[in-house]
Amino acid sequence: MSETIFSRIIAGQIPCHRVYEDVHVLSFLDISPLAPGHTLVIPKEPARTLDELSEESAAALGRVLPRICRAVKQVTGCAAYNLLQNNEAAAHQAVFHVHFHIIPKPDEVRGLGLRWNPGKLGNEAAELARALSEAVSR
Ligand code: 5GP
Repeated sequence: MSETIFSRIIAGQIPCHRVYEDVHVLSFLDISPLAPGHTLVIPKEPARTLDELSEESAAALGRVLPRICRAVKQVTGCAAYNLLQNNEAAAHQAVFHVHFHIIPKPDEVRGLGLRWNPGKLGNEAAELARALSEAVSR
């Protein structure tokens, strides 16, 4: 995987406001926060998208995410928050190193804005679930 701004942060070549670090995970404040306390959580493993991540890194992220969410809630005093994880440019990924955003939602204006256009699950559901289930167990 090519170098990204996050791999340079992990290597200590670029400074960050660190929130948490262990062998597999680094967490720091987003440089352009959508709300105060907007925090990024990244694996040290250089994976571009979540589906490329090893189970070891995924487990390490899963273990620590709730803890960092609790810290963000406690320190910002904001009970509402979103987790966002973008994969590929079409899905708004700008830095091609896996990362989770923890984004407090203090009010209507600040935090994550969402456009949510729900469809309706139709006749394709059974076949779709079967195909996904088969792919997951491969
Ligand atoms: P994405 O759109 O890829 O999900 O989000 C990338 C995030 O990384 C953005 O929210 C952006 O503000 C943040 N970011 C980009 N460059 C830097 C940087 O050098 N330092 C920090 N702390 N955050 C960055």
